[in-house]
Amino acid sequence: MYDQILYPTDGSTGSEAAAAHVAALASAFDATVHVLHVIDIRGGGLGLSGAFLEEEGQAMSGRSPDEGYIGRHEEGPDPDEIEDELTAQAEELVEASAGSLDGIDLTTAVEMGTPHSEILRYADENDIDLVVMGTHGRTGVERYLLGSVTEKVVRLADPPVVTVRVDEGE
Ligand code: ATP
Ligand code: MN
Repeated sequence: MYDQILYPTDGSTGSEAAAAHVAALASAFDATVHVLHVIDIRGGGLGLSGAFLEEEGQAMSGRSPDEGYIGRHEEGPDPDEIEDELTAQAEELVEASAGSLDGIDLTTAVEMGTPHSEILRYADENDIDLVVMGTHGRTGVERYLLGSVTEKVVRLADPPVVTVRVDEGE
């Protein structure tokens, strides 16, 4: 019934809450778990992250913050380097999330784009039978019933979606 389970994670406590349910379902159905993180490039994309990384580099090289943007731009890392760095961080994140799924048949994936769109696309392309995810994530406000990524996945996904609250995962 559930052969391919998708576990989207942003590395937050909210995501971790889902891990025990992912593990239990995967064991019960002898399923493969796909641990997926989407590098969120809404609102400015690599440009924004790039500026952030450049500032970090600047701090390390001891340059003053009021040096012009143009200088920074010329000396900053190129977009490929930024992408590599973000991808490396994302891979660490999925490995860490996968770490709590000992003994489960696993595959990990990193995509880049708008989180809910990439999660839905990944689910389609990989014949996912069940999605298990946190109700909340890294950036949200607790008083909302669901985070915006989960809300869109619940509304739009073809397979059933199990959502887990932090206090339920413990
Ligand atoms: P919001 O993002 O709306 O401010 P939030 O961060 O609390 O609020 P969501 O982003 O919807 O809520 O996170 C809920 C769940 O969605 C997470 O526990 C995780 O399972 C999944 N999720 C969120 N962002 C990503 C991402 N970039 N990649 C993979 N899964 C994600
Ligand atoms: Mn979020």
